[in-house]
Amino acid sequence: MSWANSTRHDRLPDNWDELRAECERLAKGRCQAKVHVPECNGIGTDCDHIEQGDDHSQENLQWLSRPCHDRKTRLDNGAGKKLTLPREKHPGAI
Ligand SMILES: [Zn+2]
Repeated sequence: MSWANSTRHDRLPDNWDELRAECERLAKGRCQAKVHVPECNGIGTDCDHIEQGDDHSQENLQWLSRPCHDRKTRLDNGAGKKLTLPREKHPGAI
């Protein structure tokens, strides 16, 4: 189990500002979460790594609203497993 290294701090590249701006541009400023939390208003504010780690390519970046980003961060940190996000869909209900 070698995925337990805990460099929790994002190590961001020198051109992070550019990558971030590009991510926002590609997303047209909208939240790109697959599943939005009820609090999400659809407007992105945060640049997120889809897979945690050192892959800063646009393929691994997504533009998220704060609430959706918070939720994902919680899942990333809590669930421990990647790629097993349940595809929940309950409109309205929390
Ligand atoms: Zn959202």
